[in-house]
This record gives sequence, C-alpha cells and structure tokens, in this order.
Amino acid sequence: MSQFAESQAGARPMAAWPNSKTALAGVVGFPVSRSLSPLLQNAAFAAMGLDWSYVAFEVPPGSLERAVAGAAALGLRGLSVTTPHKDGAARVATRRSRRVRRLGAANTLTFDRSAILAESYDGEGLLDDLRHGGFDPAGRRCGVIGAGGAARAAVLALAEAGVREVVIVNRTVAAAWRSAALAPKVARVGRPEDLRRMDLVVQATSVAMVGERPVAEAAPTDPVDPTAPVEPVQSTGAALAGEGPSGVGSAVVAGVDPSWFGSGQLVVDLVYDPPLTPFLAEARHQGATVRNGLGMLVYQAARQIRLWTGTEPPLSAMWAVVDGEGSSWQGGVSGPGGWESGTGS
Ligand code: NAP
Repeated sequence: MSQFAESQAGARPMAAWPNSKTALAGVVGFPVSRSLSPLLQNAAFAAMGLDWSYVAFEVPPGSLERAVAGAAALGLRGLSVTTPHKDGAARVATRRSRRVRRLGAANTLTFDRSAILAESYDGEGLLDDLRHGGFDPAGRRCGVIGAGGAARAAVLALAEAGVREVVIVNRTVAAAWRSAALAPKVARVGRPEDLRRMDLVVQATSVAMVGERPVAEAAPTDPVDPTAPVEPVQSTGAALAGEGPSGVGSAVVAGVDPSWFGSGQLVVDLVYDPPLTPFLAEARHQGATVRNGLGMLVYQAARQIRLWTGTEPPLSAMWAVVDGEGSSWQGGVSGPGGWESGTGS
C-alpha cells in the first residue's frame, strides 16, 4: 500500500486512491517488467506526501508515438523513457533540451499543457553518482566502453564535467567515432589496452545485463525472458574470453579485460541487474573501487521528480527501497555512501 494511501486511509476509503486528482507519471520501455523505476518513484512520492502515482507501461517497438499521444490525452505529467524508445522520445517531443538535441535521445518527457518537453538525465545521473561518491571527474582520464545511448550520454556528461580525456572503446568502431564526435576536444576512439591507465572506466555496453547475455553463456535452465533481445555470439570471441570470479559468464567486454584494473582506479558498470557483473567482480578482485549502475538510476529518477513536481525528492527513501536492508538489490557495490574497494586478493 502506498504511504499516500495509508496517510489518507482514515479520511476516505482505500478504493478512492488513486483517483482523478492523482497526478500520474510512468515509464515506457520494452521490456519493462524488471524496471526499478516504479519502486523508486512511488517511494519518493509517498515519502513526500504527494498525491502522485507512477506506473510501468510496456510499449512495443513502433508504438511510442501512439503511447505518448495517449499519455498526453490522459493528462499524465511525465514519462521516463527506456530502451528501445529513447531516440523516438526525442523525435516525438515538441521541445528538446540542448542536451537532447546533441544526443538525439531523451529519457524524460514532461507534459506541459500542449507541449511535450524532452530531457536527458542519464549522463547527469552518472555524474551525480560519481560526485556523491567523492569522485570529481574534472581533469581525470576516463574510458567509456560502448557507444550506445547510455555511453553517448556518459561521454557528453564527462566532457561537460571537464575531464582531461575520454577514450572510447566499442565493438563497432563506426559507432565509437560517432560517440567521440559529441566531444571532439576531449574524446577519441581508442584501443582496449588504452583503458589500462584510466582513473575512471565506465562499462556502458549491455553485456551481462539480465536477458542480454550471449546465447552461449545462457544455461538451459536460466529463467530467460522470451521477449528480451539476445545478442549473437561473436565469432572473434572477444566478449567470451573467460569466466569472471563470480562464475557467471565472461568478464572481458569489447576486448577490455577487467583484470587490467586495480587500486586507485574507479570502475563503474552501468548495468545493475545483476548487481555485480563479471566485469565488476573481476575489477574488484584486482583491487579497483567498483560501482554498479544503481546510483545512476536513482539520481536520474531524482532529477525527473524534481522537474515534474518542483520539489526536492528524498534520496534516502529512494535508496532504501532499492538498496536498503533486506532489498534483493543490495549488492555491496551500490548505495548512497561507502563505495567499496577491492581487496586485491
Ligand atoms: P544500446 O544503445 O543498445 O547500446 C548497447 C551497447 O552495447 C553498444 O555499444 C553495443 O555495441 C554494446 N554491446 C552489446 N552487446 C555487446 C557484446 N556482446 N559485446 C560487446 N559490446 C556489446 O544500450 P544503452 O541504452 O546504451 O544501454 C547500455 C547499458 O546501460 C544497458 O545495460 C542498460 O541497462 C544500461 N543503462 C543503465 C542506466 C542506469 O541508470 N544505470 C541507464 C541507461 C542504460 P555495438 O555498437 O557494437 O552494437
């Protein structure tokens, strides 16, 4: 039961909530069943005492435009946007932030009378998480693995934060060049080995995300979401070069071996499901400080709530539902403080 409903239970029957006065927001994606956004956002609304509710909408590819038009007609206040709709969200919006125009993608839509405003908070969520953990990217050497939507948002945000350089490594080199073009002064395409000497490495591919492991790594008994995309096995074997210390699949991503990293380096994997990817597990094993993508998710959600409600969201309540005591998401590599360094053993 939502805390808003609980607080109102004495005044009116439970069935009366949510009602026509309740402000609605949601997330659109495909698949979206494992999204943590409803948990995070509803926890925040409840702790804020706001009559808001947040719902997950599974919107198949090709249906975004109709879904957004429907959401606008129904009076929704905002939508979070996840895979595969981020590029489409930028297109359907009637106004785009400067960041969205540069990235060509959005993860946040706001309905404001007849306007649909697009914003992208993925990169800012990452920066918020880095800074809350005590890592200031300014002047640092950074590596980004991947060149998809999340990786591009990371490159742009790191460049705007004043990093010394961003070296991009991706399976498809042409995509890496497109990503580097976002920040030509500091970003370049590099070789996997170039990431050995970075202060920060951001693993921004979808490798090791639940439901996206290469076919050869999925055990026959694995609970695989039949609607989730499955990446083909690479003939080069670059992503299948071994098994991480967690024993789950390969630790090498796009030719980058996490055993290269160690003490004094920060390794972030944007994936948070599972909480400890083979890539992070190996980097931690070697002594690196590691961090999963949960913080980025929490901080971008906080920015959305601030934008939609005009009110400061309670970060502690949001962290409590996804990383608190008893939460299945607790992995030792996320949380509001106390970043974990590897043992090097
Ligand atoms: P995307 O646009 O589909 O990009 C996927 C990237 O992964 C591409 O660079 C792709 O390389 C690479 N890739 C996929 N399979 C690979 C493989 N087997 N070996 C090597 N590279 C591979 O996805 P996205 O939206 O950027 O998301 C990337 C990850 O970030 C996902 O796991 C997503 O859940 C996560 N994410 C987290 C947050 C958060 O808040 N924590 C927010 C956004 C995204 P190619 O270019 O060669 O295809």
